[in-house]
Amino acid sequence: MSLVIVGSVAFDTIRTPWGKRDRIVGGSGTYFSLAASFFTRPKMVAVVGEDFPPEVIDLFKSRGIDTAGLEIRPGRTFHWEGHYGYDPNQRETISTELNVFRDFRPVLPNSYRDANIVFLANIDPDLQDSVLAQVRRPELVAMDTMNLWIASKPESTWRVLKAVDILFANDEEIRMLTQETNLIKAGRKILAAGPRLVVTKKGEHGALLFGKKFVFGVLGHPCEDVVDPTGAGDSFAGGFLGYLDKVRKFTRPEIRRAAVYGSVLASFAIEDFGIERFKSLRPDEVESRFRLFRRLVSF
Ligand code: AMP
Repeated sequence: MSLVIVGSVAFDTIRTPWGKRDRIVGGSGTYFSLAASFFTRPKMVAVVGEDFPPEVIDLFKSRGIDTAGLEIRPGRTFHWEGHYGYDPNQRETISTELNVFRDFRPVLPNSYRDANIVFLANIDPDLQDSVLAQVRRPELVAMDTMNLWIASKPESTWRVLKAVDILFANDEEIRMLTQETNLIKAGRKILAAGPRLVVTKKGEHGALLFGKKFVFGVLGHPCEDVVDPTGAGDSFAGGFLGYLDKVRKFTRPEIRRAAVYGSVLASFAIEDFGIERFKSLRPDEVESRFRLFRRLVSF
């Protein structure tokens, strides 16, 4: 199997009640790929500026991430600034500078075009669309999005949504997309448009998966040390789809396990600022937290 991912590779400026960091490495594509790299070798599609540190690209490679689709362009790397309060589920976007992403027209390397799974991480929906159009016959396509794109490019967002199997979104995004306040009605509207599964991310509380005849809830790991919630959603998706790419089965039991791995990877991402925790994370730590989840929910 193989997994192609398009998303942002970024500098983030982050303020949380536990500290502030300027221009640290982040991005939806970065978190997703690092989380997925615990199960498979994700093929990344993104663009960075010449200001992006080469040692981070080396880190990607050392984790088995394929960077053939990561372009380095003259100009500045995408930059996002966000602030969090004491509730990690609430964040405020202070600024978004697209920089080199503004004129990015990705051309997929040939080795990417036969991907079985495609993840369209949070990025301009027109870019998501152009990546999807270049993959020949994917078996599973998933997407994420955010309020900025739903508000600024609603038609493009819906066009992509209709072409995917799985939508990852939080409550606010689902309500914004469908203009429905009730989440059950909102979810039904999304399922009627095309996706087979909606993964509603509930931040520290976990996620709720629902399809036409399928519902599964996964807890968030009860972390004592939440330092920086950035990237939790992308890490969830990375653990989820990375695991599915490894097991090559999209059955319900595997989808449940994938959701638990998603929650496990998200729980590690938030233990330190930016991608720091992923630098030291070991596969046996991932497995032992997976086992802990089993105990948490068995009764
Ligand atoms: P998450 O916390 O999982 O929702 O994702 C956070 C990441 O999304 C940050 O590292 C940002 O760099 C990235 N991000 C924020 N806004 C955007 C956007 N408009 N397009 C693409 N990536 C973004």
